[in-house]
Amino acid sequence: MLPATPATRVALKLDIVIIGAGQAGLSAAYNLKQLGLAPGRDFAVLDAAPQAGGAWQYRWPSLTLSTVNKVHDLPGMSFAASAGSDDSVQAAIAVPRYFAAYEDHFDLQVRRPVAVNLVCNRGARLRIETDHGLFSARGLINATGTWEKPFIPDYPGAASFTGRQLHTRDYKTAADFAGQHVLVVGAGISAIQLLDEISRVTTTSWVSRTPPRFRQGSFTPEDGRAAVKLVEDRVRQGLPPGSVVSVTGLPRSPAIEAMQQRGVLNNQPMFQSITPTGVRWADGRELAVDVILWCTGFRSALDHLAPLQLREPSGGITMTGRLATKVAADPRIHLVGYGPSASTIGANRAGAAAAKELVTFLSERPVALP
Ligand code: FAD
Repeated sequence: MLPATPATRVALKLDIVIIGAGQAGLSAAYNLKQLGLAPGRDFAVLDAAPQAGGAWQYRWPSLTLSTVNKVHDLPGMSFAASAGSDDSVQAAIAVPRYFAAYEDHFDLQVRRPVAVNLVCNRGARLRIETDHGLFSARGLINATGTWEKPFIPDYPGAASFTGRQLHTRDYKTAADFAGQHVLVVGAGISAIQLLDEISRVTTTSWVSRTPPRFRQGSFTPEDGRAAVKLVEDRVRQGLPPGSVVSVTGLPRSPAIEAMQQRGVLNNQPMFQSITPTGVRWADGRELAVDVILWCTGFRSALDHLAPLQLREPSGGITMTGRLATKVAADPRIHLVGYGPSASTIGANRAGAAAAKELVTFLSERPVALP
């Protein structure tokens, strides 16, 4: 672990800085190395987390390798070989172990914990301000995921609620809610999974802004490509990416069928306001609840890029390049794990595309000294 030091005025100069060492950042680092760049000399990977694993290290204990969708191999090393055949192991243990082995095997020299506070333009270079000093780079691959940016919509009266409110991110175990009435908000995969767990130990209600869209039949690779394409089209137009479930729908899995049979899949429309003891709908109906669990998703963790003014008035960032990883307004900057690449397989591909495009771009520009 690095000692905390105040930011010095002398920046460590590199060609490329990667921010974030989750699936997307590690894929980018691997690919830069494959292209001949040396970790620590030509590029650096900065990661705010205390250990390897990206956001997987923070996932709740009941999320195991049997309940995740699928963790795709990082390029060049098998996950299955590291995880073994026991799929009851926690994702928060298996994936960090795999990432740590990966970083070690490919000698990616991730610097952690190093949190990037701000990225600013300094002529031909980018100045990267962190809680462990300054870095300067000609190009940037941002791979900061979404975990740092939980989203809770604003409802009137939220501050008056005397019960407990928490976000998916804060969930640990269903046992915490025994004896309490829990209102689950949201219609994504996390909402369904947590509703399933919590409804086994206590009473629940379930609301969402739009009704859940259950999909019959299996999700084919063509469905996957079509879903990614829709999100890609959005970011190419500069729109905020939107949620993947809004595009793919939820598979009607055996777990969902079992929930239906237990009578816990009674989805209700969104309430209008929050009262001190529960929620109230537009027609005046009220429901008393002890806990509101907001499974309302995440936004991209990009606040540190604010000085670069990349956002459009719509709130999105216009993306271009082969897999839409390149910021249209500044080709020195790639966002990986963003929009269409916000999955483990998408992050792999985005890391490769970003590394290749950025190295080509920088090699065509004269090296400008500060
Ligand atoms: P992360 O894994 O979030 O890594 C980002 C890294 O950047 C972190 O280490 C963080 O500390 C660091 N960071 C953030 N901000 C800064 C900063 N300012 N300075 C320095 N470092 C910073 N996808 C699948 O394909 N299969 C699944 O089964 C699956 N299950 C999921 C389950 C849950 C509950 C959730 C929330 C998501 C799931 N996803 C799944 C989505 C998947 O996790 C991601 O698409 C992918 O793993 C994210 O990788 P990433 O590298 O983009 O981000």
